[in-house]
Amino acid sequence: MNIVVVGTGYVGLVTGVALAHIGHRVTCVDVDKEKVERMRQGISPIYEPGIEPLMKENMEANRLFFTTDGASAYQEADVIYIAVGTPGNEDGFADLTYLKQAVRDIASAVTKDVIVVTKSTVPVGTNHEIQRMFKQLVPHVHIDVVSNPEFLREGSAIHDTFHGDRIVIGADDERAAAVVADIHRPFGIPIFHTDIRSAEMIKYASNAFLATKISFINEIANICEKVGADVEQVAAGMGMDQRIGSSFLRAGIGYGGSCFPKDTKALAKIAANIDHDFELLKAVIEVNNKQQRKLIEKAKKRFGHLAGKKIALLGLSFKPNTDDMREAASLVVARELLAEQATVVAYDPIAMGKAAHVLPKEVIYASSVEEALQDADAAMILTEWDEFRQLDLSVYVNEMKTPIIFDGRNCYALHDVARYPIEYYSIGRKPIT
Ligand code: NAD
Repeated sequence: MNIVVVGTGYVGLVTGVALAHIGHRVTCVDVDKEKVERMRQGISPIYEPGIEPLMKENMEANRLFFTTDGASAYQEADVIYIAVGTPGNEDGFADLTYLKQAVRDIASAVTKDVIVVTKSTVPVGTNHEIQRMFKQLVPHVHIDVVSNPEFLREGSAIHDTFHGDRIVIGADDERAAAVVADIHRPFGIPIFHTDIRSAEMIKYASNAFLATKISFINEIANICEKVGADVEQVAAGMGMDQRIGSSFLRAGIGYGGSCFPKDTKALAKIAANIDHDFELLKAVIEVNNKQQRKLIEKAKKRFGHLAGKKIALLGLSFKPNTDDMREAASLVVARELLAEQATVVAYDPIAMGKAAHVLPKEVIYASSVEEALQDADAAMILTEWDEFRQLDLSVYVNEMKTPIIFDGRNCYALHDVARYPIEYYSIGRKPIT
């Protein structure tokens, strides 16, 4: 099987590497020349645990290739996976510019029958539109379009690809569905066959449901703070009920990243387009917007005003084990702190390079936690990196002007913090003052 993957971002690169690892010959195409050059040297353009050794192993085994020459790759392909970005546009709709360009690129190159598999997250009806585009652009070539939404999580993408809960294959044509199922069979993951529109919807519904769980527990946390309950205890007790499940019940300063924010907004728009007011999902989005500002609220309450205060931001990526800054809470928090005329000193173990391109230029970067905390009036923890969770709490006491922590990810046990002269505000738990 000659497989081509279009787009080598978090999804495309991981997909390409994983498909090569189970024995396929895979060519990854990207329009970004610099990225392709680095990948050819075995360097991953994204931070993702475990990806580089796997890349190198499969490149050395002559199963994994990288190119900017899409046309040649598409001509040789039996199956082409599209994994280009589908970011949200200003109105909240999915922007299909990259996807449609990829479709045109493929159409202008293919000369033999091929199956095109869409991994990118796309609104319901998009795969049928792709099918129509192909029929119009290359009527003489038979192209089957299959929807195969991706469920990996950044930070554990390799693990998720090899040990996912399900592989969803949405197709109109049974033979095309069977080919795609055969490609994935060596992963040993349950395969769920369905129609194209349901497959597209499964992806949005799954992300919207997970986002709902997060906003739900965050609202419970906000109530816990007022009634004197502890959200960690509440989540543990709720999670023991198998109908609820314990995952996605960690209270914090909300979800971010390249998927939940844009996919929830896109689904609300999909609903609005058919005159359905998805009130529940709109509330989930609104709760998250407010939650990202929770630490600022707490700090303003504590200090009165933040002008002239030196605030250490610990963690910039939207979650640990990734360098992805898309829709990270740090973007909101840094902007608001600067608007309040605070001085912002930031540290992240991995994401500072990417952060420097997207955070306001007034943000100062420190090369260690200690350096970030030096003489700070307060620390705000935005990402639960292990480096912060495992930090000796005496570091806050020794380095800061006043050891005041606003922990947006509940990194520390209250009884541990209580052993130090630290003022500690977290989410949904009693403050230590
Ligand atoms: P990304 O932005 O990290 O990567 C996209 C890549 O596609 C870039 O390298 C870009 O240069 C390349 N590209 C764009 N147009 C191209 C073209 N015409 N030809 C070749 N390459 C092209 O995107 P991502 O985060 O990997 O997401 C890809 C899709 O998967 C999106 O639809 C996203 O919603 C979905 N998804 C993402 C995740 C995630 O965790 N990142 C998880 C599940 C699903």
